[in-house]
Amino acid sequence: MIRVTDLKMPVNGTEEQLKKKAAKALGIYVEEILQMQIFRRSLDARKKDQILSVYVVDVEVANEKKTLSKVKGNNVSITPDLSYVLPQGKAECKNRPVVVGFGPGGMFAALLMAQMGLAPIVLERGGDVETRKKAVSLFWEEGILDTENNVQFGEGGAGTFSDGKLTTRIKDPRCRKVLEEMVEAGAPKEILYDAKPHIGTDLLRGVVKGIREKILALGGEVRFFAKVTDILVENGRVQGVVLADGEKIETNDVVLAIGHSARDTFEMLYQKGASLEQKPFAMGVRIEHPQKMIDVAQFGDAAEKLPPADYRLTYTTKKGRGVYTFCMCPGGYVVAASSEEGRLAINGMSEHARDGENGNSALLVQVFPKDFGSDHPLEGMYFQRQLEEKAFALGGGSYTAPIQSVGGFLGTSKESPKVSPTYRPKTKEVDLAEIFPGFMTEAMREAIPEMGKKLKGFDRGDAVLTAVESRTSSAVRILRGEDGESLWAKGLYPTGEGAGYAGGIVSAAVDGILAAEKIFQKNLK
Ligand SMILES: Cc1cc2nc3c(=O)[nH]c(=O)nc-3n(C[C@H](O)[C@H](O)[C@H](O)COP(=O)(O)OP(=O)(O)OC[C@H]3O[C@@H](n4cnc5c(N)ncnc54)[C@H](O)[C@@H]3O)c2cc1C
Repeated sequence: MIRVTDLKMPVNGTEEQLKKKAAKALGIYVEEILQMQIFRRSLDARKKDQILSVYVVDVEVANEKKTLSKVKGNNVSITPDLSYVLPQGKAECKNRPVVVGFGPGGMFAALLMAQMGLAPIVLERGGDVETRKKAVSLFWEEGILDTENNVQFGEGGAGTFSDGKLTTRIKDPRCRKVLEEMVEAGAPKEILYDAKPHIGTDLLRGVVKGIREKILALGGEVRFFAKVTDILVENGRVQGVVLADGEKIETNDVVLAIGHSARDTFEMLYQKGASLEQKPFAMGVRIEHPQKMIDVAQFGDAAEKLPPADYRLTYTTKKGRGVYTFCMCPGGYVVAASSEEGRLAINGMSEHARDGENGNSALLVQVFPKDFGSDHPLEGMYFQRQLEEKAFALGGGSYTAPIQSVGGFLGTSKESPKVSPTYRPKTKEVDLAEIFPGFMTEAMREAIPEMGKKLKGFDRGDAVLTAVESRTSSAVRILRGEDGESLWAKGLYPTGEGAGYAGGIVSAAVDGILAAEKIFQKNLK
């Protein structure tokens, strides 16, 4: 096919108009285009009075050679073949490979191993998506937490109750494989070409179920409420795993895709002498504004014609510490994301429609090992726990979240938040500075007004802050070599966000695919 880039269109332009634009760029009649596929769609909102959609399309024409020979513009080329090719050959493992954790990392490791004929066994400590949804609703409505089946643990991992933003900074052809498998499992096809693809939690639940069914159909096995509590290692090699109910499963290949919240499993690895190290991460609050304010700030008068706007703001304090907004959820909700009793963690999510009143994002301060006060590999994790305990206590218990107005936090006004917090079950107005170490409060107080200069209204006094956003990435790295295997035990593949090598749904999924490829290569016949 022929790829035509940089086709500018009004935001509500039709596919027919786009085809005409492509034909003009190729110097041919629109009838000569046999078929057209959108490869990329992005929004150019630099000029608020002239917001445009910009397309990259692939077209099939009757006579490709002749068409290309006539074209002058440099926005035309042959469409590159970016499709992912499954590793070829036959591999056989002495024992079936095991995948610990069914988040994006474990899910795609298992899917690829199933597609390569390795019949993996997936062990997930939480429940399937249906039971999980019930447990999470009970937590959000009544503050009753199931420490094994919640926003962090269960089918689909941490990503299931999310905005399902699929943006990633990694450039890897496996990213497209991840998106294609998600579309095949029920995700909207727009994720294949939108510059900022997102699924929304309501559709994500169906997608993870679809991928589970594909793994089962290919001979894999997926077990829920199957927590791995021990990894058996002899002479530096994995021999098996043990479940919480004492069952032992023999295996020589374990994909350990446990996510950033499996603190008891990190403790187990530490006790066993696994090679772990501290890792920088970030913590802070969620900030909420009326979504309409954000739309107008980003798109001006054109806001009504456009989908809800997002933003990404960064600032470096005078002392050189980074503060940035993260995981912005347009028309979304602040959600309770705890997984441990008496510790309060929050995050953000939205439905596919993104039609909530507010828009929210995490406002995060970088935290470094030097801030932890000890070089114990799990010290960062303990640091997260301390702030979550303070947030829980300051909220008054039952996972009531501590909140404060931006004006109250900055000390510029005593007003209560007018933007109503979306956190459930309950919120309580407090002085949030009581939760954070001085360097974090200082950094956020310095950053908010500066960010208000970049996004009009960001620092409005009646906006609402909710605490504490603590699970943005793992505080621990499980060290692995070039071969993807743990430095502690051959056959153990630390994978995804919990291993400290990925961040976000797509990069964790790609890391899972890489682990599967390595296990396949190692067991090739
Ligand atoms: C509310 C929320 C919203 C988010 N929004 C986005 C977003 O919009 N876009 C984005 O890219 N990222 C988002 N993220 C981050 C994203 O979800 C993670 O980066 C991603 O899920 C990491 O994938 P993973 O497979 O490495 O780990 P996880 O998804 O954390 O999965 C790990 C799995 O391992 C299981 N497990 C842990 N220990 C054990 C054990 N001992 N035995 C068996 N199973 C175990 C857990 O139950 C869990 O299901 C969000 C996260 C949250 C919590």
